[in-house]
Formats: sequence, C-alpha cells, structure tokens
Amino acid sequence: HSKRSGRSSYTLYDPQLDQAATLRRNLERDLRAALEQPGELEVHYQPLIRANDGTISGFEALLRWHHPIEGTISPAVFIPVAEETGLILRLGAWVLERVCTETSTWPVDTVAVNASMIELHDEHYAARVEKILLAKGMAPQRLELEITESAFCERATVCEKNITHLRGLGVRFALDDFGTGFSSLGRLHDLHAEALKIDRSFVAGFGTDKGDEAIVQAIVDLAQAVGMKTTAEGVETTAQHDLLLAMGCDQLQGFLLSRPLPAREIETLLRAGTIEAALGAPDGGGQW
Ligand code: C2E
Ligand code: MG
Ligand code: MG
Ligand code: MG
Repeated sequence: HSKRSGRSSYTLYDPQLDQAATLRRNLERDLRAALEQPGELEVHYQPLIRANDGTISGFEALLRWHHPIEGTISPAVFIPVAEETGLILRLGAWVLERVCTETSTWPVDTVAVNASMIELHDEHYAARVEKILLAKGMAPQRLELEITESAFCERATVCEKNITHLRGLGVRFALDDFGTGFSSLGRLHDLHAEALKIDRSFVAGFGTDKGDEAIVQAIVDLAQAVGMKTTAEGVETTAQHDLLLAMGCDQLQGFLLSRPLPAREIETLLRAGTIEAALGAPDGGGQW
C-alpha cells in the first residue's frame, strides 16, 4: 500500500503546504481507491423501531470506511470531502447497490438511505437511482431517501425534478436532522416528504432543557397535523424513550435500541426474532 500510505508524507517534504489541505487530498485519493478496493467500504444498518409495539419497521443504511492505515474513518469526516470532490455521486451509487443486494430478503417495509444535496443537484441522479433499483429488483416503495433541510430545493430546479421523478416511481422521502435548518413550513408541505427525523441534539437535551422537550413536542404535533410520520434520532436512554413515546413520536432510532451493525449481524438479529432477544434483554416484546 505504499502509494496510498503517507499520513503527512507531503508535509514532511514541503512544510509550506497547509496540513488540512493535504489531509483532504490524501482522503480524496484514498477514497477514490477505496471504491475499487473490496472490503474497505461497508454499509452498516441501524434498526428503526415502531414506538407503539417495539417492532422493527426498517433500517437506516450508514456508510463505513475502513481505511487500511487510518482505521475506521467517520462519515462525518469523509462525506464532506466526497461532496467537495464530486466523488459522492459514485459513493452514493455504490451504497445504493450494496443496500439493494444486502437487504433484499429482509422482512421490512423500509430501507432508508442518506442522499447528499450534491446528489440531488446532479441531473442524472434520479435516472441512476431508478436504474439501480431496476437492476437489483428492489421495489421503489421500499426505499426512503433521507435528505437534509439544506438539500431543500427551489422550485423548477434539477433538485426538484429529481425528487418529482423519484416520487413518481414510489420512492419516499424523509427530512433528516429536522429542526436544525431553516426551511419554511410552506416548503415542508410542498415537498410531500413522508417523514421527519427529529435531530438527535433535541433528544439529547431531554431532562436538562425544557426548550428541547417543547421543540420535539411541537415537531411531533406539526407532523401529525400535516400527516407526516416522525422518527426520533439518538435515543440513548430509557427516559428519552419513554418521553418520546408519551409525546406521540412514531419511530425511534438510537443506541438504546441498537447500534448500526453490519448486514450479517442484522441477519442474526432477524433470526433471533426480536431485537430485545438478540440484544440479550430479559423480556423482549417485539416480534416479527
Ligand atoms: P444521519 O443520517 O443523521 O445518521 C445518524 C447518525 O447518528 C449516524 O452517524 C448514527 O450512527 C448516529 N447515531 C445513531 N444512534 C445514535 C445515538 O443513540 N447516539 C448518537 N450519539 N449517535 C447515534 P454516522 O453513521 O456516523 O453518520 C453520520 C452522518 O454521515 C449521517 O448522519 C449522514 O448524514 C452521513 N452519512 C452516513 N452514511 C451516508 C451515506 O451513505 N451517504 C450520505 N450522503 N451520507 C451518509
Ligand atoms: Mg440519516
Ligand atoms: Mg440524522
Ligand atoms: Mg446527521
């Protein structure tokens, strides 16, 4: 791997070079290579749990990169680099293909995949997604694309055309990290997204910040009023779990319920019948 190594190799020879820029360039080079290298990229899946009965309604696909030298690099670090360099288009297609293959037999209605705003603004995005779904035999109704509020697109743009095209196929949309952006409620309604994912920063404030509790209740009420579902992200404690249930939140996701896991571990969990049983809790209530 000598060609791909070189943590700081450039800065050794040229101390003038900005370290952050070098790191970025190395990441780009290595990410490009990772797309050709089996095993470096992997998709993990985190269960989405129905609040009313504790069953699994679906999974969110989360990309993992096992770098040969640096170890596992967080998507929070490499996704922005992939977006800046345009690599996100190939990366997104790779994720979707992998997800279609790995989840084809899983008994759930929803497989959620994150879509970058860069992808949504690419004129070939919807056609590419359609082609992958067709080739892999995945029903479009099974796919939920998670987009952030920053990906909110203006009317009559490539972005809106992509969304209209995909919606026409039956693909659903969820607004990720909801509450952290500045989208107008009017646009929210226009988009006809099926679901709002409440940003985990609000859930994290439960118990210490009454404002966060009020915001989450308001989001749940708003979603109900306009016929959208809500998923709370980042559920880590039973106190948060119970409060979200009382607030009327539809779905829960977080480390309390399960961490994101590789496909083979999800399959073990599915065979065990209930997520609680699979995680070793005393009396799991969920069932398939
Ligand atoms: P996201 O879409 O909001 O994904 C949820 C993140 O919260 C994931 O981080 C997940 O591991 C983490 N999480 C889940 N439950 C908990 C919890 O209880 N506590 C805490 N503290 N965190 C929790 P992850 O996997 O590191 O991904 C970070 C972000 O990277 C994602 O945020 C998403 O925006 C982006 N990302 C990941 N995979 C992809 C991908 O395939 N494509 C694109 N475009 N973006 C991706
Ligand atoms: Mg997401
Ligand atoms: Mg999120
Ligand atoms: Mg996020």
